[in-house]
Parts: sequence; C-alpha cells; structure tokens
Amino acid sequence: MPKTIVIFFGPPGSGKGTQAEMLAKLTGWKKISTGDLFRAEIAAKTKLGILADRYIKQGKLVPGKVTASLVEKSLKQKASGFIFDGFPRNRGQLKELLMIFAKIFKKKDQIYALEVAVSDREVKRRLGQRRLCACGKVYHLAYNPPINNGLCDICGGQLFTRNDDKPKVIAHRLKVYHHDGEPLLDYFKKQGKLIKINGEQAIAKIHKDIMEELSGLKLV
Ligand SMILES: [Zn+2]
Repeated sequence: MPKTIVIFFGPPGSGKGTQAEMLAKLTGWKKISTGDLFRAEIAAKTKLGILADRYIKQGKLVPGKVTASLVEKSLKQKASGFIFDGFPRNRGQLKELLMIFAKIFKKKDQIYALEVAVSDREVKRRLGQRRLCACGKVYHLAYNPPINNGLCDICGGQLFTRNDDKPKVIAHRLKVYHHDGEPLLDYFKKQGKLIKINGEQAIAKIHKDIMEELSGLKLV
C-alpha cells in the first residue's frame, strides 16, 4: 500500500495543530512534530537528545542536521501515513526533508502540503484578543470572554496578554510566516501537490473539508 504524507502549513493561530491532531486520530497516521520529537529524545537521554538539549538550553535553534536526523528516525516507524505539523518552516528545512523523503519513500507514495489558510486580519483578531490567567485558563474577548471584565472566572486573577500575542509580536510572526513559509507552499503548488483549505470556519467544518479533499484524492 502506498503511504500518504501530509505536511500542514498555516500562520500562527490558524488552528493547524488541532486539525493535524484530528486527522491523525481518524486515520491512524503518525503525527510528527519536531517539538515532541525533541522532548522524547531528551527524556530518553539519547545521543541526539543530549545534543538537542544543549542547543535548546542555550536558547539557540537546533541545527537543521540534528532535526533532520530525528525526523528521519521517526519516519522509520511502521505506519500507513505521516502528518507533519510545524516542520519544515523554511527552504533549508524543506531541502533536508526532501532528501530524507527521497531515501525513505517510494515513487507511488503520496506527499501533499495542506494549507490552513487564514488572513492576517483574522490571525490578529484571534491572537490579539487572547487573554491568559496565571492559573492557566485561557480566554478570548470575543469567543470566550470572562464574566467579569479583565478577571479570571475561576480564580479571580488579573488577566494578561501573552508576549507572543502582543500586536508587534504577532505582526513579526506573520512576516516570518509569509517570508519563510509561503515559498514552500509555492513549491508544492507547482508540483500540483497543494491542498488549500479555508481556515476561517468552525473547527468541525475545517476538518470536514480536509477529509473531503483527501477523499477526493483517494488518500483516505
Ligand atoms: Zn485564573
């Protein structure tokens, strides 16, 4: 049986992580997130884990080669498909990934990029109105507001905006996504391997659209 590989793309706040999770649950395909891979290797104290840990502790980016070795290792698991979430993020990582794919996958295996498309305006609306409490509870001023303005329903604590959700930081994260991430979408589009999904819909509807597209391509 040919394998299916789906690589999720989308700006911060697009909900692609949730969608990747839902797809993995339904299909049994293995989800590969480099963050999870690092955490597992570090916990198991493997050679790669120790190496990765050293970079992370110094606040540095783990070099592409180290990440690539981890990804390659995880693609050797038995599975009928794989889902990528959060990797690759730039041309360098895509190049590494394509080299690994060439080693592991066969011609008949299907590799697709899946874009959960959300406009900058919507990203700013979603992330910019997110508020947190020190107790861990997350609010959204439009979708899930606290009962008392600025205060946590559970513990009464003062709500705050996460640094990553401040307007300047959101604008920067979007800029990085457009600059580094979008050329990767072009690459898959040119190969006729890009599935574009409207991410400005309810979670269940986005999931349904994804399943319909994959089913249309006879991938599920
Ligand atoms: Zn609280």
